[in-house]
Amino acid sequence: MLTKINCNLCGADNYEVLFKTYSGDLSVGADSLEMTDRSINIPVRIVRCRKCGLVYTNPRPPFDCLASDDVTLESGSYLEEERGARFGAKAILKKLKEFKKAQEKLLAIGFGVGFFMDEAKRSGWEVHGVEFSKPVVAFAKERFGLENLIEGPFEHSIFPGNYFDFILLKDIVDHLEDPKKALIEIRRILRPSGVLYLNTPNIDSTISRLLKARWWGIKHAHIFYFTPRTLSKMLDVTGFVHMASRPYARVYSVKYWLEKMEFYNRDLFRVFSFLKRTKIALKTLRVNLWDRIEVFARKSRRLEYLEEMECLNVAVEKKRMKVVVVLPAYNAARTLGRTVADIPKDVVDEIILVDDHSSDDTVLAAHKLGLKVYVHEKNRGYGANQKTCYKKALELGADIAVMVHPDYQYDPRVIPELIEPILKGQADAVFGSRMMKRGALEGGMPIWKHNANILLTALENVALGTYLTEYHSGFRAYSAKYLKSVSFMLDSDGFIFDTEIIVQGLLKNMRIEEVPIRTRYFDEASMIKFWPSVCYGFGILSTLAKHCLHYYGVWRFKQFS
Ligand SMILES: [Zn+2]
Repeated sequence: MLTKINCNLCGADNYEVLFKTYSGDLSVGADSLEMTDRSINIPVRIVRCRKCGLVYTNPRPPFDCLASDDVTLESGSYLEEERGARFGAKAILKKLKEFKKAQEKLLAIGFGVGFFMDEAKRSGWEVHGVEFSKPVVAFAKERFGLENLIEGPFEHSIFPGNYFDFILLKDIVDHLEDPKKALIEIRRILRPSGVLYLNTPNIDSTISRLLKARWWGIKHAHIFYFTPRTLSKMLDVTGFVHMASRPYARVYSVKYWLEKMEFYNRDLFRVFSFLKRTKIALKTLRVNLWDRIEVFARKSRRLEYLEEMECLNVAVEKKRMKVVVVLPAYNAARTLGRTVADIPKDVVDEIILVDDHSSDDTVLAAHKLGLKVYVHEKNRGYGANQKTCYKKALELGADIAVMVHPDYQYDPRVIPELIEPILKGQADAVFGSRMMKRGALEGGMPIWKHNANILLTALENVALGTYLTEYHSGFRAYSAKYLKSVSFMLDSDGFIFDTEIIVQGLLKNMRIEEVPIRTRYFDEASMIKFWPSVCYGFGILSTLAKHCLHYYGVWRFKQFS
């Protein structure tokens, strides 16, 4: 009857017991308190994962025993709470406007979503819904004329990928059999620019700590209990980025609050019980006990969140990885010293410089700094320079190669953050992005270039099916695995190299992550000017076209195989 379950968040089977009910075998020797939900006489034990802190019911009773005591249609209170439900719905829709201007497809999942759907429909959304309760579905269909309302558990409904602009998980995530799986499914059906809303009781709140097992949030129907920390971890591993959260005020009738009071404090209830027979009982009361979490989230830019989740369960490899910094240099004598001085030597094992036949004293300066130097006999271009860099880094046994431009434009002090996802096994390449958080404009990038960059990036994302914010960063870390699985030696000797190596990696299912960086300054002299930029743009377009031909099997390019 009872099923033993592992932690839904981290997979561990290592927990401490928080509360137990009196009844059943589990209560033997229990020093626990009685739980609020006394109607169901099944033993329940609530535990906290020692590894990640997630609180959950373990072992778990069968699902049909977990009837909810949330507001139901049968009890009549569903209708009495209409005003409160509408008030709450309006508040959510209003807040949503801060993140999402367009109102297109919306999916509401949870208990009593009918009122929410009706409010959303009135404000212009195309509403879809999934509702567990059959009578509620029938009622909402009849009363509000809602067509797209499906009865049953959300997990069983099938929606197309990238379909919804907004998904609402109202009072439901704590009831789900497998919240992690459900959130991954939600990520699949949410559009890249979509927004997820969810709310749940906060077991870390003051009132929960005070009332312990008597806190209203503890009930049989809740099989998961989140804290702001475990919820944000859950969103993180399922591929969401948390945008805003706030304590959630609940809106119910005075009658409802009085009934709650009756349970918690009978004496206090007796004083106020006369209100129940007056008109005041039907008035709505907004109460914020600061014990709920409400979160708005969007899809993260990560490409491969699933593998990343698996990595969470694997202990980080203890063996230290060899980090080699490569400096593709061309006339960098003036800035080389400052760049090298800022490289954090405690995380970097070796620094190599490849000189692309500079006309200044770059080679001399590099030797003085004690770097390993490789010299091109003639000027061969930026891509060719990187080829030598990565080839030499691999020969030196690098596990990670970090490219830093020696023109002092990028800040090498960020290297630890840049290589962290690779060290943790969460990514195969990490790019410092100047386009996240407006870093480029603050760094002095001309606006035309900034906008052209955004346009080109959008095109690249569409063509390659990725969410990168920048394809032209000169500050990148590649794992040896990445460099060994792509034929970078076949790439262009010019600037297009940077794009080609990304396309190759994506075709090999490499995981690319970005971290935001700022540039110190934007030196036009060392960067490409307008007309060469235009040629560069066309070069990228042709690379994208080649990618499409290769991807759809029209023409196989050796470079991408
Ligand atoms: Zn855990």
